[in-house]
Amino acid sequence: MPNASEIEKTLSTARVAFTQWKKKTVLERVAYVSALRKIIVKNLDSIIACISESANKVSMEALNSDILPTLEMIKYYEKQAPKILAPKKKKTSFLFYNHDAYVEYKALGVVLIIAPWNCPFQLALVPLVSALLAGNAVILKPSEITPKVGDLIAALCHKAGLPKNLVQVVLGGKDMGEALIQARPDKIFFTGSGGAGKNVMAAAAKNMIPVVLELGGKDPMIVFEDADIDRAVGAAVYGAFAHAGQFCVAVERLYVHELVFEEFVSKIMKRITTLNVGTAYDCDFGPINTQGQIDRIEEQVQDALAKGATLLTDIIIQKSVWYPVVLKNVNHKMQLMSEETFGPLLPIMPFKTEEEAVALANDSPYGLNASVWSRNIKKAQRVVSQLETGNAYINDVIKNIGNPDLPFGGVKQSGFGKYHGADGLRTFSIETAVMVNKNQTKREINWFPYTAELAKTVRGLINFLYADLPLREKIKIFLTMRRFMKTLQ
Ligand code: NAD
Repeated sequence: MPNASEIEKTLSTARVAFTQWKKKTVLERVAYVSALRKIIVKNLDSIIACISESANKVSMEALNSDILPTLEMIKYYEKQAPKILAPKKKKTSFLFYNHDAYVEYKALGVVLIIAPWNCPFQLALVPLVSALLAGNAVILKPSEITPKVGDLIAALCHKAGLPKNLVQVVLGGKDMGEALIQARPDKIFFTGSGGAGKNVMAAAAKNMIPVVLELGGKDPMIVFEDADIDRAVGAAVYGAFAHAGQFCVAVERLYVHELVFEEFVSKIMKRITTLNVGTAYDCDFGPINTQGQIDRIEEQVQDALAKGATLLTDIIIQKSVWYPVVLKNVNHKMQLMSEETFGPLLPIMPFKTEEEAVALANDSPYGLNASVWSRNIKKAQRVVSQLETGNAYINDVIKNIGNPDLPFGGVKQSGFGKYHGADGLRTFSIETAVMVNKNQTKREINWFPYTAELAKTVRGLINFLYADLPLREKIKIFLTMRRFMKTLQ
């Protein structure tokens, strides 16, 4: 059980660290983050081993989906953070004549980051570094499945020389997460399942704590008949089976144009025979990580078969390793086409028209990532413009989320709020919109007293600004207004 006084101490020491850290300039904060980047690069082998072992992940995935995107994001922020967090000049209109306007970004306070197990390094460190650069202290609660990665992150931050208590890693599961929320951090950044996300949001609402929710997906891949079929086959197999499908942005629904459907399916079947599946860390993909997920995968397959789906592969399970499962004759009444799988299932469905492909892709409670395949980029862009998704990739899968300058986040049941890019720092900032009135008059037009002449002037102003009047009329109104304004001096 979480110890209430220890949690309170974590929060209060984090607040003390915050008061010092927020005084540092962005460039000073960047220096710490650069040190962290160099330490990560120096300790690659031990980091890969820790991630692979904790998350049951092949070592290539530790490199590709944890370490590489984290370093890329840090490097990006080292250069961009000072610009992103600098005050931004804003426009003023005629109504605010003789004013300046700008937005400034200030640190929020103590940020609670709750991370999942599947990319335990990236999905903890990227929000952690973003929150630090914006001037905050961080409490990280890693997944109970990957506590060693939490300890590793604490050790790396220590080695990078980050001030004491600025980053605190608290181990534990759901109960610990709930207790930390009750202790009233200033913001919660949650990555995980939709069910847990709803609980986090409800708990945060009690104290009006803002939340970002990065939740699950059911990502569609749409392949048109004019796509590079061999390339799309490679991407579909990678997108569905990398990390045994345990990515939030895995390809979970494959829609292929009917003209190339049979060719596509037979090429997929050929391609999966080349996969190296098993428990060794040099395989292409390995085990399913929890019994809960294994149960869900089994349930989805049984549900699909009961509703008429055709299995194209044998179901081969060795311990917790599921070999790729490919199904056709699937429809949206089946769980595996409507609920997140988070496992190595690839359901494939044909479509006839662009409109049908869009409708199928959008017929989902989720909206995280999507991919569209066509040699006609304009057509692919037209399709993307109609998709209800937070992120989309044309002619590739998954790694679009690693572009550090693009905002990342889902829509619908995939969550809300963004990070990465400028949004990644601003989401951890207080954004203050400031106006400077440079008028020297005794009073402003909108101040008391409310006289008949003021009402006439405001009406004149409305006509002057928003009505379609001849220029002559406008000049007349302007002169009347100016006479009134002079009386305010
Ligand atoms: P999970 O929801 O079981 O756990 C995530 C984290 O939330 C863990 O640290 C857990 O201890 C904590 N938690 C659970 N209930 C909580 C509560 N009531 N209060 C506070 N904390 C609580 O998810 P998981 O199995 O670790 O991760 C897999 C899920 O995460 C999948 O649905 C996947 O799609 C999603 N995910 C989303 C993204 C994204 O960026 N959108 C990225 C990775 C994973």
